Amino acid sequence: MKKLEQLYEGKAKKVYATDDPSLLIVSYKDDATAFNGLKKGTIAGKGVINNRMSNLLMQRLEASGIPTHFVKELNDRETLVKRVSIVPLEVIVRNIAAGSFSKRYGVEEGMVFEFPTIEFSYKNDALGDPLLNEYHARALRLATADEIEAIKRYSFAVNEKLRAFWRECGVTLVDFKLEFGRLPDGSIVLADEISPDTCRLWDSKTGEKLDKDRFRRDLGGVEGAYAEVMQRLSAHI
Ligand code: UDP
Repeated sequence: MKKLEQLYEGKAKKVYATDDPSLLIVSYKDDATAFNGLKKGTIAGKGVINNRMSNLLMQRLEASGIPTHFVKELNDRETLVKRVSIVPLEVIVRNIAAGSFSKRYGVEEGMVFEFPTIEFSYKNDALGDPLLNEYHARALRLATADEIEAIKRYSFAVNEKLRAFWRECGVTLVDFKLEFGRLPDGSIVLADEISPDTCRLWDSKTGEKLDKDRFRRDLGGVEGAYAEVMQRLSAHI
């Protein structure tokens, strides 16, 4: 597999073409941003952890019947993935109130829901990723009704698998963001990453935050928190 030209550089990852038009290489950076790019920084070693963690979790999900873009881990920071066309929706699943949900609805962080919730935002940095519902997504032709159904089904299935898995590691899965892509045959697969950048992970006993909120909220100990969740996951895989 030959790595060819860089196609794209995002906030946390770079994407390269390969000599196989159906495959891409994703390279994870240590760069961190928050609040739609307003806050910038570096989390030393984050790229290595997110690459490893996302790949381990995607492989587990794949084994339980959820299709993903994962193909092969190439090295510490780089992974071979299927080329997809990204559905421009950020899908957020929540088990416990936190972050923008708590702010929007005026409820305390930590309120445990009776059942998981799902919400979508339009993946569009210029507009600040506005929240939208399924009708809006279809009106804007971001996804078809069938695609939205598949995305919801997969997202709740991912939640059940990840929640059970993190529980075994002594970690509470509070919420997370997923992105999906379309393969050339039109089928939907899980894409992007699953990491402490995209999940809220709280220590089950102490409630300590072990995710990107430590960076967003200047809580300190960011690198240590990423290393801690990675270590717990490795011990359980
Ligand atoms: N999230 C993400 N990327 C985003 C927005 C949110 O990965 O652009 C994740 C975030 O890490 C959290 C979940 O989605 O695990 C819910 O985030 P929320 O809507 O509460 O937004 P925030 O408070 O992070 O702005």
